[in-house]
Amino acid sequence: MNRLIAVVLVLATCLPLPWTNADEPDASRLRQHVTKLASSEFQGRREAGAIKARSYLIDEFTKLGLQPLFGGSFTQNVTGKGPEDVIGVNLGARIIGSDPSQADHWVILGAHYDHLGRQGALIYPGADDNASGVAMMLEVARTIARSPVKPRRSIAFVGFDLEERGPKGEFGLRGSQFFARNPPMALDKIALFVTADMIGRSLGGVLETTAFVLGSEHEPEVRPWINKAAEGKPVKLALLGSDMLVIDRSDYGPFRSRKIPYLFFTTGESPVYHSPLDVPETIDYPKLEAISRIIAGIVREALDGPVVPVWSAVPDYPLAEAVAVRDVLQTLLFHKEAFAIGGYQIALMNQTIKTIDEIERRGTMTSAERTRIARTAQVIMFTVF
Ligand SMILES: [Zn+2]
Repeated sequence: MNRLIAVVLVLATCLPLPWTNADEPDASRLRQHVTKLASSEFQGRREAGAIKARSYLIDEFTKLGLQPLFGGSFTQNVTGKGPEDVIGVNLGARIIGSDPSQADHWVILGAHYDHLGRQGALIYPGADDNASGVAMMLEVARTIARSPVKPRRSIAFVGFDLEERGPKGEFGLRGSQFFARNPPMALDKIALFVTADMIGRSLGGVLETTAFVLGSEHEPEVRPWINKAAEGKPVKLALLGSDMLVIDRSDYGPFRSRKIPYLFFTTGESPVYHSPLDVPETIDYPKLEAISRIIAGIVREALDGPVVPVWSAVPDYPLAEAVAVRDVLQTLLFHKEAFAIGGYQIALMNQTIKTIDEIERRGTMTSAERTRIARTAQVIMFTVF
């Protein structure tokens, strides 16, 4: 054998294999998960349907050879008033990092699996909300579990229960709140918490190529990871400050309040949000695939890269955020009749667009301007959707 070929062969068997397309989250697998989880058999993933969803996730975790996250169990009972009052069940699996000096650092990839259940004969399938996020989590888990290169740091995959609302219909996030109060790892060892809620459609049904990422204002060092992972993907990421949503809209809330670096991915409220029409057939699978691949790239960087994100108390709002808001406002204005956007809102939106034009020309943004842009975003989110 030629010596050079021999060296190449030896190297090829020793070196970590590069990521190949086959290792990436895949649209047809994502579709399978969404179709199953949002089928009538799962009854909107509440009560009897939630029990089916739990079995499905545990089966998938087991097939991937993942370890249970909660002291030998894939389940964590979410309790209410006392230890006997079980109101829900979180699910979790893990891969322990291969680098002993890094294995106590954790990345958490979570998605809520519960939805609204049924009202009489009417089923709320929750394909976008949030079978799409769960499918992404399972696909990222598959690519990491099947990769010949084991991650340096540890990763937990978590399916949260009771995001939509508690057992008595009260405000949700009960599963993630319980998890953050009873974590299976030290909270200060969570390098990054990533969650996705509704990543298969588009805001208002019109921002077709846009996905929103919130949270990077507290750990701007992840932005190059996001940009790298998004390169060449058929989706435009709008990085927004979390304050634009006024309240915590998904499971990042309990992590945000504990100052744990987090990223929240969403394509926003579509016209079939929280309706029986949120069915698997109308999910944009190429978009879901692109977002899942971006999240896989970011998670991989957090697991293997030289640095772990550090929470920065003073949020950093880049000019790109203002530009992303302008894109959204312009698109909504283009469809103003369809959204029945009124005169006051149109004036506010046009004024804000002018301000952002000026900011872009100048290349700087004052904190007062940023506050006004965020207020406009809040008003529009509240009144248009
Ligand atoms: Zn949701």
